[in-house]
Amino acid sequence: MSKVHHLKFNDLTLYAEGVAKALRQQFPGRTQLTCFAVPRGGVPASYILKIVTAGQEPSITMRSNPHQADFILDDIIDSGDTLRHYDNICPTTPFYALVNKQRTEEFADSWVIFPWEHQDVEGDITVTVTRLLQQIGENPKRGGLLETPSRVAKAWQHWSSGYNVDPSTVLKEFEDGGETYDEMIVVKDIPFYSHCEHHLAPFFGTANIGYIPNGKIVGLSKLSRLLDVFANRLQVQERLTTQVADALMDHLKPRGAAVSIRARHLCMESRGIKRQGSETVTNVLRGVFRTDTAARAEFLGLFGP
Ligand code: ZN
Repeated sequence: MSKVHHLKFNDLTLYAEGVAKALRQQFPGRTQLTCFAVPRGGVPASYILKIVTAGQEPSITMRSNPHQADFILDDIIDSGDTLRHYDNICPTTPFYALVNKQRTEEFADSWVIFPWEHQDVEGDITVTVTRLLQQIGENPKRGGLLETPSRVAKAWQHWSSGYNVDPSTVLKEFEDGGETYDEMIVVKDIPFYSHCEHHLAPFFGTANIGYIPNGKIVGLSKLSRLLDVFANRLQVQERLTTQVADALMDHLKPRGAAVSIRARHLCMESRGIKRQGSETVTNVLRGVFRTDTAARAEFLGLFGP
């Protein structure tokens, strides 16, 4: 995972002083400047700029229309999309930001969090679960339930942890010895646990993951790690299967990749929509597995009857 920078108000004061200096260079001799603050991060940024320039020239007044402003201010230049957007609609108006990720090496590969972006996810989930307990007719103050909301919040942080992981980082490290190996590599019966996105109910089972390398192989444990990255998100079984196969194709560039998943869905079984114990099977075949019938048959035969 990339580095996380929690910015402090003191840092922001320094960055705002930098912006004020750049403005004086851009607009020499001006006693007043008008600012358009990009929603939403530009708004707190503009107030910090007003505070650090209070009593100095140029004084800064706000405009709600970017076409009427001397300059545009945002909290951060990240991908540059916002900068390009305003460059298109107001091409002559300079664009400033407290933090420019493209220019500041320190921030280049990191996730920058401003003081007004701090989120208490665990606290928010706890409140939601307390409300849910009340709504289903329970008493959240009952002894057995007292710790339940915070336990559920912690559990969901794990069950949703895959959103914060870039699958390419899992497959980044290659093992030596892959240059000459061109047979099918399969890891069988990898257990997984996920949640369906329609009911937030668990679905779980096993996966067979295989690929035919094309010069690159990864450690076998990486395949189950890759499965976890996608399983720890809200899913439907078909997409989980597809995402694992496509991630292998994208990042490992094998001759082919194949993923087969068998799972039981509590949302269906517990409500009698499907017989208990019945499994749903999904297969996704990519590359040579689609054209080479022998490879396909070998892979699909692994689960047995
Ligand atoms: Zn469901």
